[in-house]
Amino acid sequence: MTLLKGAHLHDPQVAIDDVADIRIDGERIVEVGEDLVACDGEESIDCTGCDLVPGLVDMHVHFRDPGYEYKETIETGCRAATKGGFTDVATMPNTDPVCDTGTGVRYQIDRSKAAGLARVHPIGALTRGEKGEALAEIGDMVMEGAAAFSDDGHGVQSAGMMRCCMDYVSQFDRVAIAHCEDESITAGGLVNEGTCSTRLGMFGWPAAGEELEVSRDIDLVRLTGCALHVAHISTERSLDLVRSAKAEGLPVTCEVTPLHLFLTEDDITDTYDTNLKVNPPLRTPHDAAALREGVCDGSIDCIVTDHAPHAAHEKDCEFEIASFGSIGLETSLGLMLTNLVLPGKLSWDQLVSLMCVSPRRLLRMQPVTLAVGSSADLTVIDPSIGYVVSDGLFESRSHNSAFLGTHLTGAARDVFVAGKRTLMDGVVA
Ligand SMILES: [Zn+2]
Repeated sequence: MTLLKGAHLHDPQVAIDDVADIRIDGERIVEVGEDLVACDGEESIDCTGCDLVPGLVDMHVHFRDPGYEYKETIETGCRAATKGGFTDVATMPNTDPVCDTGTGVRYQIDRSKAAGLARVHPIGALTRGEKGEALAEIGDMVMEGAAAFSDDGHGVQSAGMMRCCMDYVSQFDRVAIAHCEDESITAGGLVNEGTCSTRLGMFGWPAAGEELEVSRDIDLVRLTGCALHVAHISTERSLDLVRSAKAEGLPVTCEVTPLHLFLTEDDITDTYDTNLKVNPPLRTPHDAAALREGVCDGSIDCIVTDHAPHAAHEKDCEFEIASFGSIGLETSLGLMLTNLVLPGKLSWDQLVSLMCVSPRRLLRMQPVTLAVGSSADLTVIDPSIGYVVSDGLFESRSHNSAFLGTHLTGAARDVFVAGKRTLMDGVVA
């Protein structure tokens, strides 16, 4: 048995917002209350000054395994997730081979169980090889435990194909996650089309390249009834499209990354930093402000990292040939705390909804709460710890963070997955 003493508990699901103690026995929470006394032989952990929330979930990460293990493996990815305070992550299928069969799903689940840290929930491809031509083995993948379906990394270019995918996915009570990118418009695009692309003389990736597909896919929701989750939205207009769809009562949700909330195209103009080359690209300060507003007013459902590891040689090169993507698992919570929660712009309850409750619901996972009887999936956060994002922070095999050098306040201190302590005083077990 383990007793967590004196943390401030936050869980909007059971309306807890108080300092209290939590007792864990085996995999479950068995007692929640004030001044609980440690039993004989029970481990008591002092959490005074800390905040405690249900285990965090990141529903959009890339673990590169199988196929690109030199960037990240399922084990190193799970270590990075644990370090960042996550109990669960959902992995995008653009590995090599693409995860488009039940075997691919099973492989990742088995590997992550062997690692024994964060749980991995594989997202299966919508189309075979993510080529956008033929349906992947969606039913087979559901049987093996696929949490959702997406061709992330690519937009499904044909509306007819996307319709088939959504028709099929909706049969299995799963969400279709759309990477919205019309490649006939974005081809060759490196940065946001506008001031940045003009100033740097680089091919632009215009906002319309995303918004056209967001709009199209919302139309397809009307046609198919399939639940649609729009991945990594980056523009104000994309957000407005999602807002209108929600107002209409359609099953449409969306997510945003800390990259698109806290960085803009201006950061690239100043630095040419290839770690800032991401897909979709960093947009204007106006877009980022609109997205932050969307997070705070509840229009955006989830915070995800789009954790995209790349080896040094894939980033330490000219901007034109550098790979797209930034890692994010170890910095996501700290960025949200530093920029939104600690300054009082976002409540702890909202943070829990964005980083736990909504992703769990969308991935069709069992709810986890801070109530007696729930699985003991917990994240203990020290909101006072200050640090600079640097190589020493990362458990990820790759260190391509867009936030290197950033000062942050607040980080995960301990993580429990079904009662097992996977992060101990900031150190991965
Ligand atoms: Zn992605």
